[in-house]
Amino acid sequence: MYDYLIVGAGLFGATFAYEANKRGKKCLVIDRRNHIGGNIYCEDIEGINVHKYGAHIFHTNNKEIWDYVNQFTEFNGYINSPIANYQGQIYNLPFNMNTFNKLWGVITPQQAKEKIEEQKLNAGITQPKNLEEQAISLVGTDIYEKLIKGYTEKQWGRPANELPDFIIKRLPVRFTYDNNYFNDKFQGIPVGGYTRIIEKMLEGSEVKLGVDYFKEREELSKTSRKIVFTGMIDEFYNYEFGVLEYRSLRFETELIDNENFQGNAVVNYTDPETPYTRIIEHKHFEFGNQEKTVITKEHPTEWEKGDEPYYPINDQKNTELFRKYKELAEIEENVIFGGRLANYKYYDMHQIIASALNCVNKELQKNNKVLQNENQ
Ligand code: FAD
Ligand code: UDP
Repeated sequence: MYDYLIVGAGLFGATFAYEANKRGKKCLVIDRRNHIGGNIYCEDIEGINVHKYGAHIFHTNNKEIWDYVNQFTEFNGYINSPIANYQGQIYNLPFNMNTFNKLWGVITPQQAKEKIEEQKLNAGITQPKNLEEQAISLVGTDIYEKLIKGYTEKQWGRPANELPDFIIKRLPVRFTYDNNYFNDKFQGIPVGGYTRIIEKMLEGSEVKLGVDYFKEREELSKTSRKIVFTGMIDEFYNYEFGVLEYRSLRFETELIDNENFQGNAVVNYTDPETPYTRIIEHKHFEFGNQEKTVITKEHPTEWEKGDEPYYPINDQKNTELFRKYKELAEIEENVIFGGRLANYKYYDMHQIIASALNCVNKELQKNNKVLQNENQ
């Protein structure tokens, strides 16, 4: 008998397992995939750590989370500085003075601000109501047209004026010549890849791979006192209110007999015609000097039940549907829901760790309390 059956060997499940194990709890961790790590899994190809499910850069402003993750591995000093390729022209990201200079020839922050203000006024936007309006009011129409609209509509498969504004607020807009994609104080790539972190986290737990919870639900549920579920919440409830929508991705990976393909880890293709959104050249995350290189083209695709769910579509319809499932989840006594699929949330890795730590603390303090009460 285990204390916890953890469904999903991704970052949430592994963090929960590590912490529960540390407090003397026995965990069985299962995953329907044949490897641990969930979406942060890395595969070694010719000595290069290939981010199998899309590029992952660890970044956080939270010192506690940074210290926490550093206990499992060392991080290199990689700073993410993607570039955008729009019809053969290269622009720096995130939107900063280098971008403004290339686009408009402006030199000072004041000149850039005036240009943006002028474009915002011409577009007549006062209260942005969607991603398109939010983007124009942040960076003006030129950048919106060249660097945002095409990328966003490929990525999400929907018009930018039907998407929530929070998606674009993820990106910094900076009036300095600084190409760091993130504002966070701490950033890097784990030396040797992400899978090692998960391996260490799962050391004290039993792990079974290639096991789908829903195919053996009854037997698996009997193995443990409680379940930590990190899969899709609507699947857990047999889609009884309807299907939550996602955006999926197809990764086209190639090994190339060339030492340096594109000179940068991430190049975004922001025009609407190129079918992929970005090309990742994995070796540059770790300053690799291998003779060959591996690149991955990221093609956004429509998601259908059964496909890999990558990005939740947090529009109004899906948010309302999720709320219904959440109400059911909240009254479950023996199931804990966590991670990006069960919470239907566009979480980054540092947020997943923070939420797993909060969850395990709440859970085990509660257990302690129950035990104390029982002893009284
Ligand atoms: P997952 O990693 O999805 O793990 C859930 C696991 O549960 C999966 O392995 C799945 O197979 C398993 N599972 C589901 N259902 C079942 C079932 N029925 N039975 C058994 N197993 C099941 N974050 C960053 O901080 N920086 C980045 O640069 C970044 N880039 C990203 C790029 C892409 C393309 C994507 C999609 C995400 C990115 N993220 C990034 C987010 C990051 O991947 C997540 O925050 C994190 O991996 C989520 O961990 P998780 O454990 O919640 O989910
Ligand atoms: N985005 C864009 N152009 C770019 C990069 C990003 O318009 O060159 C928009 C797009 O809508 C994307 C969002 O900004 O979904 C968030 O970008 P981020 O790089 O954070 O996406 P992720 O890495 O999570 O896919």
